[in-house]
Amino acid sequence: MSSKVHIAQEELALYAMGNLQVEDRDEVRCHLQVCTGCREELSNVVGDLIALAVGVEQHPTPERARREFLKRIESESRFRIEEMRRTPVPKEKDCVD
Ligand SMILES: [Zn+2]
Repeated sequence: MSSKVHIAQEELALYAMGNLQVEDRDEVRCHLQVCTGCREELSNVVGDLIALAVGVEQHPTPERARREFLKRIESESRFRIEEMRRTPVPKEKDCVD
């Protein structure tokens, strides 16, 4: 049957940071419109990002820590996204922008 593909945490993080390409962003946004589970996941991720950003701001090495964090997320999620691209993702029919 149709096993729905959910958004990977790393991709949600990229989405929250606005680092996704437009087409990926649209897919995430469409999925979020119909999936409460991923919306909750997103708020967790956003919460983490905010906590991290706030924590980083209070420390003397913001730029470096931030870059390393982004680099890590990016390399991890790039792998996931590649993997997702190889698997056909069913389009949400009821998400017409
Ligand atoms: Zn989902």
